[in-house]
Amino acid sequence: MNFKLPIEFWKWLKRIWGFLTRIGRIRFWIDQLQRQKEWAQIRENYFLINAPGGAMVYKSKGSPEHYICPACYANKQHGILQPARDSTGESYCPTCNARYPINPQESSTGIVLDSDDSEKTSDEL
Ligand SMILES: [Zn+2]
Repeated sequence: MNFKLPIEFWKWLKRIWGFLTRIGRIRFWIDQLQRQKEWAQIRENYFLINAPGGAMVYKSKGSPEHYICPACYANKQHGILQPARDSTGESYCPTCNARYPINPQESSTGIVLDSDDSEKTSDEL
């Protein structure tokens, strides 16, 4: 059996395919614009600071006070830094695993190490 579709069918299929491709591109740009709008709203809630531990991170303007990762911020992501719960005073980003010195480093004796390596006890601060 020789099954042959008319040329009009292939032209119609090509037009449908082009139409679907254009819809896909439009959908992609609508999604991009939506993401930019959402990021602009998130970005409004943060400002760049030099944390007590020396890291340059973004801090929340409102409550609860928190910091977000500057590397993720540059990629329009919202990585909220979590305390590492060790003596380094560092926090880590659960999104990219980067670590930042948010709080001053504390030794096991309770002595807070200043950024210029001089030592002060917690009572002196
Ligand atoms: Zn990050």
